[in-house]
Amino acid sequence: MEGLKNMMEDAVEYQLRKILPTMPNVCSCEKCRLDMAAYALNRLSPQYVRTDAGALYQKLNNSSQQAEVEVLTTVVAAVETISSHPKHDS
Ligand SMILES: [Zn+2]
Repeated sequence: MEGLKNMMEDAVEYQLRKILPTMPNVCSCEKCRLDMAAYALNRLSPQYVRTDAGALYQKLNNSSQQAEVEVLTTVVAAVETISSHPKHDS
């Protein structure tokens, strides 16, 4: 939707970028990365913010250590699930 952004997409993408390079046996092609992101985003609560000047304030307000741990845990589960059932030939 115009003017709205789900901050959780950025958080999931950030964690994927961080952990995939540490897992050389996991396929990190575009298809798998998108499957992993979709898996994680379907299990995490969306964090919609306005994309105008108020967005940064809300982002800072919403971020907490516990939320970050939850995102990381879910992204790790996504990587494990998708990498054991990649939706393409290896
Ligand atoms: Zn792949």
